[in-house]
Amino acid sequence: MMKAGVVHGKEDIRFEDIAKPTPRDKQVLIKVKYTGVCGSDVPRVNDGASHFFPNVLGHEFSGVIEEIGEGVTSLKAGDRVAGVPLVPCMECVDCQVGDYSLCKNYSFIGSREFGSFAEYVVVPEKMQLNLKMK
Ligand SMILES: [Zn+2]
Ligand SMILES: [Zn+2]
Repeated sequence: MMKAGVVHGKEDIRFEDIAKPTPRDKQVLIKVKYTGVCGSDVPRVNDGASHFFPNVLGHEFSGVIEEIGEGVTSLKAGDRVAGVPLVPCMECVDCQVGDYSLCKNYSFIGSREFGSFAEYVVVPEKMQLNLKMK
């Protein structure tokens, strides 16, 4: 289990225990150290504009890799990373040429899937920036 800020509906966000996520193939589990509150999170709570309920918001974050999933090669436990919330499909024409921001089949951490208002967040290996801090 882990602590998370879970939005259940309009003006209804609760600090509670939810299942700790597990990294699957090519995913990493990050122990969140810092997370920002974005202006886009305000209507998600105050106007009930979340994609679904219950949801865990938070898409601006940094932390330390706690665990890696199968097939992860570029990151290891202990690496410090900054999260990139956009999760492009990597298969469409736009993704193939590297125009990830044009992908129409994307997911998004902290909106379309659980985000960083939590002790842990799972993200694709590819979308993390390894800070390689000494
Ligand atoms: Zn934002
Ligand atoms: Zn795409």
